[in-house]
Amino acid sequence: MENCIFDMIVAGEIPSKKVLENDRFMAFHDINPIAKVHVLVIPKTHVQSIAHISEENEGAVEGMLSFIRDVAKELGLDKEGYRVIFNTGEKAGQTVPHIHAHILGGEELSWPGM
Ligand code: 5GP
Repeated sequence: MENCIFDMIVAGEIPSKKVLENDRFMAFHDINPIAKVHVLVIPKTHVQSIAHISEENEGAVEGMLSFIRDVAKELGLDKEGYRVIFNTGEKAGQTVPHIHAHILGGEELSWPGM
């Protein structure tokens, strides 16, 4: 998608602080962290949001949870725990129209309430 910030990060047109990458997914630190550790995980193929997953594009996100598990392990969060959030759509606060998981951790996270 033209002008998608995350597509530009995948293409290397915008720099990012990479955590882990394979042929289908990429994980990098959020530019504006809201927790001690705040990493974004994206599929390299553009899909707008969970609400836009279809039979045609579901392959792009298949295996994303396993990749998130690997990223959390790479960050050393797997023992103490972490939170995974997919903001989906305007009212949930999705600002970048490219599916992304927020991995939050490295500290005690309050719940409920965001
Ligand atoms: P959303 O609000 O859509 O769920 O999350 C988008 C996230 O992307 C925000 O937490 C924001 O800080 C992050 N973000 C926006 N632009 C950039 C960027 O250019 N680089 C990085 N690393 N993160 C970004």
